[in-house]
Order: sequence, then C-alpha cells, then structure tokens
Amino acid sequence: MSDTLSTAWALAWIRGAQAVLAENRAELNDLDRAIGDGDHGENMDRGFKAVAAKLEAGAEDVQGVLKLVASTLMSTVGGAAGPLYGTAFLRAAKATTGDVDSDGVVALIAGSLEGIVARGKATTGEKTMVDAWTPALGAAQAAVGTGAGPIAVLRAAADAAAAGAEATIPLQATKGRASYLGERSIGHKDPGATSTALILACAADAAEAL
Ligand code: ADP
Ligand code: MG
Repeated sequence: MSDTLSTAWALAWIRGAQAVLAENRAELNDLDRAIGDGDHGENMDRGFKAVAAKLEAGAEDVQGVLKLVASTLMSTVGGAAGPLYGTAFLRAAKATTGDVDSDGVVALIAGSLEGIVARGKATTGEKTMVDAWTPALGAAQAAVGTGAGPIAVLRAAADAAAAGAEATIPLQATKGRASYLGERSIGHKDPGATSTALILACAADAAEAL
C-alpha cells in the first residue's frame, strides 16, 4: 500500500482490463445486440488487445501508459466507443503528471469524463457511458473529501460506476445508436456504461494488488 500509484499500477490496470474485456466480450456484445449493433464487446476486446501488445515494450510513466491507450484505441476501435474512450484516455493523460495520488485519481476521472462529453455531447440520463463516469467522479470527489487514499478513491469510483451502469436499465437512450430504438431501448443495460464499470473495477483491483 502506498500513497501514490505508479507506472506499475497503470500497466497492471490496463493489462487487467484487457483480460477482463476479453472475458466479457460475449456479454458486452449481447448487451449491444439488444439496443445497438452487437459489436461493443468485439470493439473493446480488439482495442485492448492492441493496447496490451504495444505495452509489451513498457512505458515511461503513468501519462505514457494513458497516452498509448488513447492513441491505440483511436486507431483500432471503430464505432462510437473508439473515439470516445480514445478521447477519455487522452484527457486523462493530460490531467496526469508523475505518480497519482488521491487528487490525481479525481483529475484522471474528471479528464476522462470531460473528454467523453466533449466528443459525444451526452449528458446524464441519456443511457450512455456518461451515466457511469459521472457517478464515478462524484464518488471519487466524495472519497477525497473524507481523506481517502488513492486506492480507496478508485474503489469508490468503480463501485459508483457499476451502480451507474445498472441504473441505465430503465432509461430511454437519446444518444448514440441505441437512440434509434426510442422507447424500445428501455429495460436494457447500456454496453458502454458496462465496459466503463469493468475498466474502473480493473483500476481499483490493480491498485489493491500492488
Ligand atoms: P457503436 O454504437 O458505433 O456500435 P459501440 O457499440 O462500440 O459503438 O459503443 C456503444 C456505446 O457507446 C454505447 O453503449 C454508449 O455507452 C456509448 N455512446 C454512444 N454514443 C455516445 C455519446 N454520444 N456519448 C457518450 N457515449 C456514447
Ligand atoms: Mg455497437
């Protein structure tokens, strides 16, 4: 346990995310098949496999890891999720210098959310990944307010993202491909909010395992 998260954490996070997204590929495809075109698991799996291959060479610092994730997702993931996650990781990288403390975790999540909103123009309640990132940021800020260290801040964010993803089920989609379904999008969990919860859980798992 330490007060900052280093490059080793960032590498473990992203490698863990690659494994977890591969394990959940079929489930994410199924979620996307219900309200989209069924490719979200495939998109995320392909993107993070490409990222993991590039990370074999290592990275200089946390910012370097996040930048590599951003550029690789942008170039290998099609559809909506590639540019959205690519921009998220790019803004997260820009918000990060050196190792990451509690405030750094908040900055990283805030940067990601800003990137997604800048790119996709969604607000909360539109049944997108914004509905996972927004409560994650709120929970991270609240945890910092209670004096939590970076590991606990990440866990609070991950748990809030998972709850946020569940809470997309009763929502009607008004952004992205799922919005074409109108009221028929109600009753299904948003795939992008689900992958967000998985990725943030991996960040917390990697921090706890250090
Ligand atoms: P596509 O919709 O192009 O097939 P994916 O299936 O990979 O791309 O990703 C779909 C996910 O992208 C959705 O579940 C949703 O979370 C997210 N998404 C789509 N449009 C937006 C947007 N404008 N803002 C934020 N997230 C979005
Ligand atoms: Mg899709």
